Amino acid sequence: MPASALLKQHLGVHYPTVTHGEGVFLFDDEGRRYLDGAGGAMTASIGHGVREVAEAMREQAARVAFSYRTQFTNGPAEELARRLTALAPGDLDHAFFVNSGSEATEFAIRAAVGHWRERGRPHKVKVLGRELSYHGMTLGSLSMSGHAARRPDYGSLLHPFPVAPPAHAFRFARPGESEEAYAARAAEAFEREIVAADPGTVAAIIVEPIVGAAGGVLVPPSGYLRRLREICDRLEVLLILDEVITGLGRTGAWFASETEGVVPDLLAVGKGLSAGYTPMAAVLLRTHLVEAIASGSGVAPFGHTFSGNPLGAATCLAVLDHLEAHAVLDNAVERGAQLAAGLRRLAAAHPFVADVRGRGLLWGFEFVRDARTGHPPDPAHQAAAVFVRLCFAEGLIVYPAGIAPLNNAVMLAPPLTIREDEVELLLELLGAALNGMRPEAERWT
Ligand code: PLP
Repeated sequence: MPASALLKQHLGVHYPTVTHGEGVFLFDDEGRRYLDGAGGAMTASIGHGVREVAEAMREQAARVAFSYRTQFTNGPAEELARRLTALAPGDLDHAFFVNSGSEATEFAIRAAVGHWRERGRPHKVKVLGRELSYHGMTLGSLSMSGHAARRPDYGSLLHPFPVAPPAHAFRFARPGESEEAYAARAAEAFEREIVAADPGTVAAIIVEPIVGAAGGVLVPPSGYLRRLREICDRLEVLLILDEVITGLGRTGAWFASETEGVVPDLLAVGKGLSAGYTPMAAVLLRTHLVEAIASGSGVAPFGHTFSGNPLGAATCLAVLDHLEAHAVLDNAVERGAQLAAGLRRLAAAHPFVADVRGRGLLWGFEFVRDARTGHPPDPAHQAAAVFVRLCFAEGLIVYPAGIAPLNNAVMLAPPLTIREDEVELLLELLGAALNGMRPEAERWT
């Protein structure tokens, strides 16, 4: 039996105790320093220990930390909704606040199904996701997730929503297939799933614009998301984009959908919204969804106790202020280019590293047993897990990912505030861990 009363993810594993953080670094109680190359879980996007955020939290907590959303509205939540919707593409003009990414995608299901009920089409209740996707741990969000490793058998508790094939050129494009042709083929595969499920029963589809943990930063072929938008419009199905990782600057734009030129009907954000300073997430909704409620039941009965609480909202406002005041998105673009160039150099020096991919400050790569064929190592080698441990020993945090059961990919998502010399340090530590991986990689062949 573990000595600690705190139940942890892996029993029997020693977790160092974090004591404090400063900028891109975390420190433990043994005095070790870690460069947070993953922002924890793609979350700590303005770094640790930002004084203005702590001060804003203190001030708001002293004024009023909690009020209940069916009794009061509050200034910070109103302002956060106003600023977020102003940044969002198209007419995503309304925001609803929840407390985690899972609650956000779960909310999106209920909002999508509720939308069709308001419009007199109560049979539209399915939400189709994709293989290699992750939308959260609650039973609804997990039902839409095609993440085999995180989706053990919960029997009938999970909805058997159909999933469509992924869009991941490195593994699934045909030899010689153009990006455009692959985008069309992957989108058509999604359309076939919707048609097979009967569009009359499909409320929405949900897609991560760039797949995170379920694939290890899978950037879709150009035009793929626009095609999905067009398919959804044609088949009268709502499009939910899960920007829990990509939203609020991670890719160098406020939203990845903006880069893709796509306006979803519902857009979920999480992680970077509070940058880890408080549990907070949101869903942005297009005007036509809110109009349907307004001309229908008039009620959006979707909330949680802590939805839009003043303390959480004030925290996120302070994070937004920081992002804007320090031109953090520009930094993400510049430092992202530096990181990408360095990763490509490392991949060239280590033939067991392939497909460096990403955007802004969200990057991933895969371990392969044969650079020529791209064949992955046997899952038994647990390549990503071994590498994460090697990095940790070097004082670098990276995030394990990849297609289950391969789990051979690694994600990098450092704070968007990272400096030039800190990117160099990150690459140096990564290089040292890759050198340590060499003997391991020799065993894969
Ligand atoms: N959606 C995506 C794309 C995610 O990566 C995650 C978490 O990693 C979630 C949803 C769920 O968010 P949370 O862990 O805050 O519930």
